[in-house]
Amino acid sequence: MGTRYPKTVFDIDCRDCPRLASFLDKVKDEHSDYFCRPVPPFGDPKARLLIVGLAPGMHGANRTGRPFTGDFAGIILYETLHRHGLASKPVSVSADDGLKLLDCRITNAVKCLPPQNKPKTGEIKQCNHYLLNEIRQMLPPGGVILALGKIAHDGVVRAMNAKLSQYKFAHGAVHAFDDFKLVDSYHASRYNTQTKRLTVKMFDEVVKKAKRLAQGT
Ligand code: URA
Repeated sequence: MGTRYPKTVFDIDCRDCPRLASFLDKVKDEHSDYFCRPVPPFGDPKARLLIVGLAPGMHGANRTGRPFTGDFAGIILYETLHRHGLASKPVSVSADDGLKLLDCRITNAVKCLPPQNKPKTGEIKQCNHYLLNEIRQMLPPGGVILALGKIAHDGVVRAMNAKLSQYKFAHGAVHAFDDFKLVDSYHASRYNTQTKRLTVKMFDEVVKKAKRLAQGT
């Protein structure tokens, strides 16, 4: 069985965003074997490194029930985490494949699959209290959040009630908050990797930086 989270951190029954809830119902009708629920955070409950993505992908996390699993972005993500000793295996296949994250956890700024991979601003805000509670209740002091993309970055800044204008998203930037540091990365999406906005080397370096800051090495 997966990790049990308090309902303040994750609620598999959440239907607070009507558009997302009815989209999940529709996708479930078309793909009865898909997960089609809010996707829970995955990994070490005490991790010093928390990785925040955008939202589950249709045939990836929304199918498998594990963040980035089956999604294109998950290929580079899990491979890189494994290279840095943060994942027990380089490939995440399914929620029951035995892969473990080590001192690392992955969550999404929006827990439900959005149509066209684009959550609305109201949905990002509606879901934000889960991220806030995950940070407050689970991230140890001195921990690090690695935000994959601007929506994840903004979600963390917003959760902290801080001004977006004072925390500008930039790949490789490190932002200090009272109890943790926020490291930014371009999202490891198919678009970003195919256009070389994000190369494997760039992603490797930013994960290395986040790990070092989290583990004090
Ligand atoms: N899959 C996820 O779970 N999150 C993303 O941000 C992208 C793909």
